[in-house]
Amino acid sequence: ELDYAERLVRLLGADLKPQVVHAVDIINLKIMPGEVVGLVGESGCGKSTLGRMLAGIMPQSEGEILWNGQDRRKLGQRDTRAAKLSAQMIFQDPMSSLNPRKRVIDIIGEAPVAHGIVSRREKDSYVADLMERVGLDPAYRERYPHQFSGGQRQRIGIARALAVKPQFIVCDESVAALDVSIQAQIINLFMDLKRDLGLTYLFISHDIGVVKHISDRVAIMYLGRIVESAPAEEFFARPNHPYTVALLDEVPSIANRRRIFSPIKGEIPSPLSPPSGCHFHPRCPHAFERCRKEAPKLREIAPGHISACHLNDAQSTNRRPEIAAAS
Ligand code: SF4
Ligand code: MG
Repeated sequence: ELDYAERLVRLLGADLKPQVVHAVDIINLKIMPGEVVGLVGESGCGKSTLGRMLAGIMPQSEGEILWNGQDRRKLGQRDTRAAKLSAQMIFQDPMSSLNPRKRVIDIIGEAPVAHGIVSRREKDSYVADLMERVGLDPAYRERYPHQFSGGQRQRIGIARALAVKPQFIVCDESVAALDVSIQAQIINLFMDLKRDLGLTYLFISHDIGVVKHISDRVAIMYLGRIVESAPAEEFFARPNHPYTVALLDEVPSIANRRRIFSPIKGEIPSPLSPPSGCHFHPRCPHAFERCRKEAPKLREIAPGHISACHLNDAQSTNRRPEIAAAS
């Protein structure tokens, strides 16, 4: 059985731009088989970079990503290939991630043939089955991406990812560009596929409403660091980190939850020169002296609930009243 534990410690993401952007910094994220982990954060916080690293389409320059408990960079050729295929990514904009000059049958069917998952002879029926599975009419398999609607194109992207029989799928804002009604359909498809195929998801989103709906666990990222992670129920019942609390305060009502929130006072600092100490200190209502100097470590504050804030430190004299009272 696949043990999809991923642990990243201090990753530095090298961008294609001239400067090296520390897109992903201190991360400690475990993803268990069959889990949906919702990864939330404002744009530019590094969640896409982390997703790409986990999906194996962007190398990390430091740290380790464990696959079945082994450092992914130290795997043999065979396992490297297996690890690559077992992690797939579904992007926000299916139009730009699908080759406009290829027919759907080739978009979906090329990789499984190339990797020997199906023979060339079986390709047609294999693609037809996949199209049915994601709710597309197989009769359209000779068509091109532009002949489909946005929601249908996202289904094509999902079928393409499924074609190589992945166990882990990174969804990067995969429903963000779709109308609300279509969003719900695609989310239901993700959940059906998880149930039927035993998939594991990292679901990256800026939309806490969507994440709350589907996640078993939630992780919050701020300027390249995971600042809090907990089982979903615990997370929404007892949010701990001041950034999380501020994010949740900003969650719009169900009726207009598509509003893209720009939470919390102040600009998001540049990831090129993040603030010293706790990256959140310039925007944090609870910041005190130590926050400017020292980066808080992720600590377990309840079973499976980790948070990186000095207020959780037993020695802290600046503890939030409700935390002090509870202990
Ligand atoms: Fe706020 Fe300090 Fe906690 Fe950072 S460590 S979240 S600045 S109280
Ligand atoms: Mg992004």
